[in-house]
Amino acid sequence: MKPLAERVQSGQFVYMTELVASGLKREAQVLEIASKLAMIPEIAAGSITSYAGGQLGQDSIRVGTAVRARGLVPNVHLTCVSQDRQTIDKTLVQLQALEMHNIFSISGDWPKAAQKTAVFDIDSVQLAAHIADLRARTGTPFFISCAVSPFKYQREDLLYQYVKLEKKIAAGADMAITQVGWDATKFVELKTYLDERGIKTPVLGNVYVLSRRAAERMNTGNPPGCWASDELVAVLRKESEAPDGGLQARLERAAKSVAILKGIGYAGAYLGGTHDARQLTWIIRRAQELAPKWEELFEELQFGKKDGFYLYQRDPQPKPTRTFLPTVMDAAGKALPFVPWSKSDRDSLVRSAIQGVFRWLDGRPRLSHWFERFEYYSKKEVFGCQNCGNCVLGHMEYVCPQTCPKQMRNGPCGGTFHGACEVIDQECIWVKVMARAEASNTIDQLKVYVPPPDRTLTGTASWLNFYLGRDSRPGRPKELWKSGGGPGRTLAIDEDETLLTAGPPAADQLLAARTAKAGASKAGGAGGASGVGRAGGAGKTTEGMRQAG
Ligand code: SF4
Repeated sequence: MKPLAERVQSGQFVYMTELVASGLKREAQVLEIASKLAMIPEIAAGSITSYAGGQLGQDSIRVGTAVRARGLVPNVHLTCVSQDRQTIDKTLVQLQALEMHNIFSISGDWPKAAQKTAVFDIDSVQLAAHIADLRARTGTPFFISCAVSPFKYQREDLLYQYVKLEKKIAAGADMAITQVGWDATKFVELKTYLDERGIKTPVLGNVYVLSRRAAERMNTGNPPGCWASDELVAVLRKESEAPDGGLQARLERAAKSVAILKGIGYAGAYLGGTHDARQLTWIIRRAQELAPKWEELFEELQFGKKDGFYLYQRDPQPKPTRTFLPTVMDAAGKALPFVPWSKSDRDSLVRSAIQGVFRWLDGRPRLSHWFERFEYYSKKEVFGCQNCGNCVLGHMEYVCPQTCPKQMRNGPCGGTFHGACEVIDQECIWVKVMARAEASNTIDQLKVYVPPPDRTLTGTASWLNFYLGRDSRPGRPKELWKSGGGPGRTLAIDEDETLLTAGPPAADQLLAARTAKAGASKAGGAGGASGVGRAGGAGKTTEGMRQAG
């Protein structure tokens, strides 16, 4: 078996197939499929997802090991869903030990089983950065793939996808794989964006063998991040009337898509929507035949959004203009370069003086508690502050990252639907971040790496943490992966604001008191302060729980 990295770096057009190890499929079935795929020489790897559409499937590491034993190179999907840093680290140690080096690093869909809350401790950029760091420290040849979607038709949503891809690559991603889409102009757009910036990172285009039923689902934005236009659905409905149910037309479309990707200059194709080795072989062979006339086929793969945003072609959405809040905050940050949201890191006499005052304040618990309350309430109404203790408002155009249900700090996930959040009924917060940055011509500033927060600081005054150098922020990341302090706590607090914002010691005391009270009337429960559990630690903290901070 040739390592995936070697095949990609050889410059040959590569194929990767998606192996969905969902809970609906028996593991034996998946492995039988893997054995057949291993016989197709063009297929460089099987990409193992066990978390499709936010539904928990089989253990991707176990499946990956078995897939490799059957001769197919595994590419294991690693998501940030329901895992804290320590759990992710454990997984990486396992992958290291098993010498499974190909990792698809993604944010992941919101877990279907969760109600309002779920654990997202880190985001996909931070995950890629951590794997790359591990690679550098240990010499383990991890090969990191990341995701990107050019199939976003809302202006800011699309621009942020590309900015975030740049961040992932800067963080250490070796290859990108696109989301599904049936729009050749968008495939070209992504390639042009990278070429213009001299980014040579190989990209695989997603080619999904789309059935009528799947298209109808995607038409409503399901699974998150996947979208099929009305026109495409209409074509598939017509095709499905054929005696073979439209199968041949589906395979032909997939083969044409591969030929187009080859022509545009993609590094390969990521084949999904079928596990059938005969169908996949047919697509690969047919794509070879079609490759020379890819330009003639280009117009057949144009199922974009009529009024959608195209970076180099159509711009129906007006460029945003500067609004009051960021203008005022920017002006204040420039006039007073020592304030926490200022982008300046320069030491000054004023800053030293403030540090001295805050050091004094820090030694007086009652006073610093009132200061924390003052900071929290003054930021809550304006920014939706949730008291994370590691304020990065200045790096996010004054939009609080904690208002993103997945608590991303480096840009949107791929789950948006025409600019709307995947999880709750609101505009994606990153649309506002990008709109503000674009209005002030500071998009490049969004490319700064925002490290994971130190969640033990939840409920403490971020301004104090800033001046005393305790927080984790751009330019000053904290090493939080190994220490017990990183992931923070996962509390069954749901919407309880007192617990959410009280800070670790106070929240622990409150919880202990409540549990003791409940325990007096009813035996059992969490048992004192141990009602505060580590995310993922016991393996049952994913549903109905909320990550503090
Ligand atoms: S302290 Fe944290 S939660 Fe509060 S506004 Fe800043 S980033 Fe948001």
